[in-house]
Amino acid sequence: MTEMAGGFRGITAPLWPIRYKPLPDELLSSWLVRLAHGHGLKVQTFCNLIFGNRHQVWNRDVDRLAPPWLVDTLARYTGTPLNVAYGTTLKVFDGVLFRNPRPSGHLNWVQSLKIYHRVREGYGQQYCPTCLASDEVPYFRKMWRLSLSTVCLRHRCMLQDRCHACGEAVSFFRIDFGTAAEHSVSDTISVARCHGCKTDLGAAPTIAPLVVETDAYDRLIGWNACVQEQANDQPDPAISDELDVLRHLCALMLSKKASVKLRAHLLDAFGLDDPVGPSVQRIPMESLPTGIRHTLLQFGAWLLNDLAVRLSAAVKSGNLRYSHLLRDFDEAPAWYRHSVATAVPHRKMPAQT
Ligand SMILES: [Zn+2]
Ligand SMILES: [Zn+2]
Repeated sequence: MTEMAGGFRGITAPLWPIRYKPLPDELLSSWLVRLAHGHGLKVQTFCNLIFGNRHQVWNRDVDRLAPPWLVDTLARYTGTPLNVAYGTTLKVFDGVLFRNPRPSGHLNWVQSLKIYHRVREGYGQQYCPTCLASDEVPYFRKMWRLSLSTVCLRHRCMLQDRCHACGEAVSFFRIDFGTAAEHSVSDTISVARCHGCKTDLGAAPTIAPLVVETDAYDRLIGWNACVQEQANDQPDPAISDELDVLRHLCALMLSKKASVKLRAHLLDAFGLDDPVGPSVQRIPMESLPTGIRHTLLQFGAWLLNDLAVRLSAAVKSGNLRYSHLLRDFDEAPAWYRHSVATAVPHRKMPAQT
């Protein structure tokens, strides 16, 4: 054990030697990695010291699961109030983005990390290069895990979901894997480096967002601002309803059914090439790369900005049927049902007797 780790024997003391508090909007996993490195320890060494072999931290999505054995421990030994510590988890979006969150499996609006044996294969961890470059201490934000987030609200540039140099997904907890020292790391190691090639993610060239249509783009930005505001606060059911409809429309755009050609209809209307290649067809919104979601979300926003009229045009063009709009959408809000009924008033009704 190194000198730094020896100094860490203060683990039984009321507080740890290093007591970093979560930074604004910081993710639990980012906070944990900073604490480990602050103590001069590799993340795995730090976790083994604290949790032993009883709890595995990195083979699950701890930001989403918010395990009490992890969150309570960090809160207790850093002197952080519990509500602040739990505020680092994706639970803060309960009621805003998901009403009945499931502990495992697919979760609407949360980008999938697809964790297999600690290797993250999904492009589920996004980042803003300008935020990372301008942070005094670089760290990862909760908003960057959301499928709804494609643009940094502060810098208005595209979020990115992979290393610009080598294309690897972002796994900042693996940044100290393979470093020379057995257990210790320099406390200056940055989470903003690619775990694969060590390139500084903050140096990625910034990308200006594609604006499909100004009002649609503004609505997408507005939803993101609302979700960020309502995290940890009283959620507004009206926003949740809108986001439910938005997600349903995006799912229709990604439908495999030959009779559902909503995406083709919208691409045609805006004269855009299809960003969805064969390799990503058939995968849910929450596993799509940032750039594709950015286009589809704006299509959804555009439809919602004049729902009945725009759905009606899609149905009239033969690219969508009335039944698609309501199928698999049991919790559709009344205003959506009304818009659908208005959009397709002459559909075949059951024969009256
Ligand atoms: Zn930013
Ligand atoms: Zn890289």
